[in-house]
Amino acid sequence: MSLQQQLEVGFKAHESWALRRQLRIPNNRRLWVCACMDERLPVDEALGIRGDRGDAHVFRNAGGLITDDAIRSAMLTCNFFGTQEIVIINHTECGMMSANAETLVNALKQKGIDVDNVQLDPALPELRLGKGAFSKWIKMFDDVDAICAAQVEYVRNHPLIPKDVAVSGWIWEVETGHLRKPHSRVSEKVNTSTAMGAK
Ligand SMILES: [Zn+2]
Repeated sequence: MSLQQQLEVGFKAHESWALRRQLRIPNNRRLWVCACMDERLPVDEALGIRGDRGDAHVFRNAGGLITDDAIRSAMLTCNFFGTQEIVIINHTECGMMSANAETLVNALKQKGIDVDNVQLDPALPELRLGKGAFSKWIKMFDDVDAICAAQVEYVRNHPLIPKDVAVSGWIWEVETGHLRKPHSRVSEKVNTSTAMGAK
């Protein structure tokens, strides 16, 4: 191949990368990921993908929680950008389990913040939380397995997500550096003779 031909190939590849949305090219794995923003959750390593090199649309927020903006993003990528699979990753020792919502609300109130009158979206000034709703909006949770399983069910049944999109949920164990399914801790099967089935 001449250098000119080589450069032409490189240019074409770069052009189709840069114009992916215009050309209706989905991400490489046709994948949308919702994951916690926590610095101990390495999304690419956990999934064996290169989300930062075109493999997926990766959405991260506090907790890896299905919020209104998560639904907005998932709706767009599944209905218009060719995504066919959703993976939700929550993780152990998540900061969202480190306090209860009322404690945080009280702390904000002590800073003089009026939590009952906070604007949430610059384009929707009418979108305000009703009195007392702020603590639910923070979305602190008690059990990472339960929240993960519940989120999968919610997304699977959401009217804005096409029924043929595959949805799964996983827990990243920060203490082991491995993924597991909700409610399936391997450690519980190895620590006692009862767990190992000794008679
Ligand atoms: Zn977290």
